[in-house]
Amino acid sequence: MCSVHAPIRAITLDLDDTLWPIAPAIALAESALESFLARHAPRAAERWPADERRRLRRRLDLERPQLAHDMSAQRRWMLEHMLAEAGEDAALAAPAYDAYFAARCRVEHYPDSLPALERLAARVPLAAVSNGNACLRTIGIDHLFAFQLGAGEHGAPKPDRGIFLAACERLGLPPGQVLHVGDDPLCDVAGARDAGLQACWINRPDASGRLSSWTVDVPAPELQFPTLSALADWLEATHDTEPTR
Ligand SMILES: [Mg+2]
Repeated sequence: MCSVHAPIRAITLDLDDTLWPIAPAIALAESALESFLARHAPRAAERWPADERRRLRRRLDLERPQLAHDMSAQRRWMLEHMLAEAGEDAALAAPAYDAYFAARCRVEHYPDSLPALERLAARVPLAAVSNGNACLRTIGIDHLFAFQLGAGEHGAPKPDRGIFLAACERLGLPPGQVLHVGDDPLCDVAGARDAGLQACWINRPDASGRLSSWTVDVPAPELQFPTLSALADWLEATHDTEPTR
């Protein structure tokens, strides 16, 4: 499984579904938004129940493809649209977004994430490369990262190679010395390898303990582990046996 072909000098990390499961955070955020609307914009709350919001989201995907990489811009567009159509005060869009976003950042880490991040960060610089809009400072783990680069800020999402190359440039390293770590075979593994990075697939077991197999039609990653702890074990063993260090 291990076929890393150059020393790893930095790690870029996906966030959602790599450090924490995203579905519970989004459920919390949707619920926080409903509470906000019920309290401050009741006509919007009534006009936009969950299924209507999902419909609006699909419409947004079709009508505003230029926002597809920017979750924050998508959410703001939706809120402005929802408030306007319900005849509510447009100025509520900002606090409604804040209510949604604060809950979106109340993530629950996988049990191994924080200890493993600390071990990884003790060895090499870490940078977050994400298509989502989680805020590491709000979540309280920004001290473990050199920087965070999101698709919204960069202007294009993974698997586009540009976001990976931009991260390597900020790290001051050639892509071949950077390992990208993430859960998504296409966005994380195929995208990173297309940009010349090495890739590690975090393939967490499902609820019944089963691991997925590599079925996508792109080359398998250099590394795959079921947890970030296993990646930290590998990095520590690798660095401890590197003759140049
Ligand atoms: Mg992910």
